[in-house]
Amino acid sequence: MTAPVPAAPAADRTLSGVKFLLTSGLARACHYAAERPDCQVLAAVCYGPVALCSRCDQRRSTVGKATQPVALPDPGALLHIAAARDACQQAAAALRHAVEAARQAGHPWSAVAAILEVSRQAAQQRFAPVGGHR
Ligand SMILES: [Zn+2]
Repeated sequence: MTAPVPAAPAADRTLSGVKFLLTSGLARACHYAAERPDCQVLAAVCYGPVALCSRCDQRRSTVGKATQPVALPDPGALLHIAAARDACQQAAAALRHAVEAARQAGHPWSAVAAILEVSRQAAQQRFAPVGGHR
């Protein structure tokens, strides 16, 4: 496991998440993403080859009037998964640091195991420094 990375502001995580969805092909960009400052960037609906975000879809005038809209899966659901994944990684790092601090404070593995509700062996296998069982 690597050293914990300081949490980025939520806006940055959202922006990087949006970029990841677009570059990985997991979501489509709105047709007006580069043109309209109020565009939501991630497309919510398609009119043939033209993909639009919810806001641009509401502003739609004549574009695709004769074409039936096809709703796209909500890309926000994938951003929620990414946020939960990040929270899990931060919690795992916090747990590792807490165990290290408890061990340095003199608590035995049996106490660490008891509070984690796992066996002493399981706690040691998961958290003991590589190369030794202190
Ligand atoms: Zn848009």
